[in-house]
Amino acid sequence: MPKITRYETHDVRFPTSLTGDGTDAMNTDCDYSSAYVTIYTDSDLVGHGMTFTIGRGNDIVCATIKEVTYRLIGKEVEDLFADMGTTWDYLTADPQLRWIGPEKGVIHIATGAVNNALWDMFARLRRKPLWKLIVDFTPEEFVRATTFRYISDAITKEEALELLKAKESSKKEREAKVREFGYPAYVTSAGWLGYSDDKIARLTKEAIAQGFNHFKMKVGADQADDLRRGKLIRSIIDDPQYLCKDAPRRDPTSSDLKGKNAGPTGSVLMIDANQVWDVQQAVDYVKGLEEIKPWFIEEPTAPDDILGHAAVRKALKPYGIGVATGEHAHNRMVFKQLLQAEAIDVCQIDSCRLAGVTEVLSVLLMAAKFGVIVCPHAGGVGLCEYVIHLSLIDYICVSGNMERNVLEYVDHLHEHFVAPCSINSNGRYNVPSNPDEGYSIEMKKDSIAEYEWPNGSYWAGRRNGPQ
Ligand SMILES: [Mg+2]
Repeated sequence: MPKITRYETHDVRFPTSLTGDGTDAMNTDCDYSSAYVTIYTDSDLVGHGMTFTIGRGNDIVCATIKEVTYRLIGKEVEDLFADMGTTWDYLTADPQLRWIGPEKGVIHIATGAVNNALWDMFARLRRKPLWKLIVDFTPEEFVRATTFRYISDAITKEEALELLKAKESSKKEREAKVREFGYPAYVTSAGWLGYSDDKIARLTKEAIAQGFNHFKMKVGADQADDLRRGKLIRSIIDDPQYLCKDAPRRDPTSSDLKGKNAGPTGSVLMIDANQVWDVQQAVDYVKGLEEIKPWFIEEPTAPDDILGHAAVRKALKPYGIGVATGEHAHNRMVFKQLLQAEAIDVCQIDSCRLAGVTEVLSVLLMAAKFGVIVCPHAGGVGLCEYVIHLSLIDYICVSGNMERNVLEYVDHLHEHFVAPCSINSNGRYNVPSNPDEGYSIEMKKDSIAEYEWPNGSYWAGRRNGPQ
């Protein structure tokens, strides 16, 4: 039985701030970065994991990953995999490290990288992509793989079992369907705040031609400017002349699009403020954007302000605008309260702000119980590679629905991964199918050598080049 022997981390940073990629009202110069870990065993078996940051501080996460991974040295992998819920409890319960959390901030996202690396290793050992490993679990195995600590007032293990058992007999049909059609996606990369109108128009037209019908725009720096950019995007996505000729026509009144303020071509616009406002400011600002008919406002205020989100949602309901959040919700208890307080229309889990797959599974179960759809956060670097697995798990064995869901897609930096995610001609994610790709997060060795901070060839070259 393989045993964990060592690990290494890499601080990998990509110079995305040079092109304005990832810019929004809060994050104005992002260098998309990966705090990357590889866990080795005394056999050929390895596990890769990472968490995402936007530049400075990535080294702090790498240092923390080392502290967390250290506790796995000498462990038999089959013992860890037999009960991933208990393994997760062990990782988060270091009696000294937990003081610098618990379950929030750097320590938690570092734990996410480590937990994800273990899941990657587990999937590689069973020779299945991660999503397939988990959807083939029995309901009992699924429940054993997650954590219920602090959330049993919202969902018990028994309720989770019942929910999973109800979906068990139809899993095969859903798996076949999503393999054939792909998983619905939406585009964010047309609407970054730092892009010119010409670039927004060009990228929006390209996205329509690729088959997308959900588009997200960043807002929050200037209301008049947002209104102008929103009208520009609406003028393109609502105009049938730009539609992909071969794409099926969409009915804006269909159940898939109901409540999403879809335009005449069935296109949907979402807006994202990345936490810039106080609660009343959020309400006033978004009311002023009613004309561009967004489906939801994402992250209108501080990510920890559960009752604030509930207040924004209540105030915007008469305008037909919903609320989405979650990419900065730092643990399952925040999601529990967002659901209990009826604060969100859309639950946006993040694959590595939550402490890895184990904690994500608990949020998928709660969202299904509360009847809130899950549309994971992605983009950055590596997040799209991760989240397609999570949405497949949600669809095939937890919620059973995908047609109202959309998974974020941003076309940046996929070329650095050994098994990059991909989109089909209808603007949907393809299903990862290589039995050896694990959680699809293995980064190419050349990319690490080039972009490792501060001594990779790219960064060393910039330091040594003409100023
Ligand atoms: Mg966002």
